[in-house]
Amino acid sequence: MSTIFSKIASGEIPSYKVAADGDYYAFLDINPIAKGHTLVIPRKEVDYLFDLDDKTLSGLWLFAQKAAKAIQAVIPCKRVGVAVLGLEVPHAHIHLIPLSSEADVDFKKPKLKLEKEELESIAKAIAAKWESKT
Ligand code: AMP
Repeated sequence: MSTIFSKIASGEIPSYKVAADGDYYAFLDINPIAKGHTLVIPRKEVDYLFDLDDKTLSGLWLFAQKAAKAIQAVIPCKRVGVAVLGLEVPHAHIHLIPLSSEADVDFKKPKLKLEKEELESIAKAIAAKWESKT
């Protein structure tokens, strides 16, 4: 059985793609807590991040590092923060969240309401940075 994130990585379900390679995929969170909030996943389907095999887990962090640099080049922020929750979607993923203060990583606050056009434009800008660095 395929998870929703596997369907996103394969293109079966649309997403605001920001980066991809043969093993990993990154896309904008559909209910962002900050502009540029991105999810990074392995194409391999494993529920819990810390159950990933060593190679996939280390590769995921290296992929996330490159994605974070592309995000930081586009979204004004002090840092790109990292969160791992996995309470909703049973497919390992890392949240990358542009932040300027602690309050920016509050998952309980109301989600941002961004228009489709804005999400598209953010994803396109990050993807262009990603392409220029890889
Ligand atoms: P969690 O599993 O607790 O880390 O939360 C899953 C995250 O995935 C949430 O922040 C959702 O907004 C996000 N999400 C769920 N479905 C989609 C989707 N189709 N496209 C983008 N983000 C999604």
